[in-house]
Amino acid sequence: MTEPILSVTDLTKSYGRTVAVDDVSFEVENGEFFSFLGPSGCGKTTTLRMIAGLETPTSGSIEMNGEDLTAVPLHERDVSMVFQTFALFPNKTVGENVGFGLKMDRVPKAERRERVAEYLDLVDMPGFEDRDPTNLSGGQQQRVALARALITEPSILLLDEPLSSLDLKLRKNMRFELKRIQDELDTTFIYVTHDQDEALSMSDRIMLLNAGEREQVGTPQELYSRPASEFAADFIGDTNLFRGAVARTNGSTASVELRGLSTALESVRNPIGAREGDSVVLSVRPEHIDVSTASSGQVVGQVETVTFYGNSTRLLVDVDGERVLVEVGGREGAVSLERNQSVHLQFDSDRAALLEA
Ligand code: ATP
Repeated sequence: MTEPILSVTDLTKSYGRTVAVDDVSFEVENGEFFSFLGPSGCGKTTTLRMIAGLETPTSGSIEMNGEDLTAVPLHERDVSMVFQTFALFPNKTVGENVGFGLKMDRVPKAERRERVAEYLDLVDMPGFEDRDPTNLSGGQQQRVALARALITEPSILLLDEPLSSLDLKLRKNMRFELKRIQDELDTTFIYVTHDQDEALSMSDRIMLLNAGEREQVGTPQELYSRPASEFAADFIGDTNLFRGAVARTNGSTASVELRGLSTALESVRNPIGAREGDSVVLSVRPEHIDVSTASSGQVVGQVETVTFYGNSTRLLVDVDGERVLVEVGGREGAVSLERNQSVHLQFDSDRAALLEA
């Protein structure tokens, strides 16, 4: 593997007694789309601002291409930042906004004009040079902010919830746009969001943060299929968290008795090395539970609600007082199910995630 573009080691930031970022380490590879994901207040923005040079770490180090950034002032760091609020200059034209960084770098006017046109093209706003940014839509303003941040060709672009002030439809379109622009330029993007769909759909890898600490780093698929903790399983996607105890272990798998459901799951992968008698939590995704009206399956329950989502249907099933969320894909199957109907559920042991209680 090549040297990472960014190495963050034991990074901590305290504000008085509040520890905003708590001993966090991670590496970002060159050209990666890397996201910080987590609930409000988990330290995403503070981490990003320390990389930008807008905040000073309390302890720990940030290295870019092997060089310690601690003493490097923000304007000398090879990074740019895009903010949630766009932060465009209202008294300058779109062209002046986009060309601002080049002007600061004393790039001659003719070249500046050419590059502004090139970057407005990149963000799909050709010919907007003379427009007043305050008359543009939110989505267009964000594109201008993006062009302004990218025109100086930073090695890393830092993006702090850049889509959160846009409406849902626009936000979804902009995800594709950001991904396309990142692919085209091959620039490293570090992206802050609390929106798991955004992180899952755009990122090469995600760092999940919880209360200032690193919870898990991995690809979207890894975080979804192999959550490392109850927090990770719950935060990413929807899941059922069943409490239970290990009845037996057998090599790398375990047999787990589920307390509330009065059933057991055999041959569950056991990456945490749980032992017989240990209390554990089992995360089972709604789409990894089969539902049938025939008399086969592990447990029997009553359908409480049926919710149609177009490409899937979700059921809430009451099993001995425990609620189990089940998803049936496609248009078939669940459409015929009704409230109060008895159904049999079968859990897919291969895809269940065994977690520490
Ligand atoms: P959000 O999505 O709400 O911005 P976040 O994950 O980005 O959340 P941070 O903004 O990094 O979280 O904040 C982490 C913690 O540090 C929070 O408890 C916050 O109140 C605190 N904090 C952040 N900046 C400051 C500051 N300048 N002074 C004091 N406390 C701060």
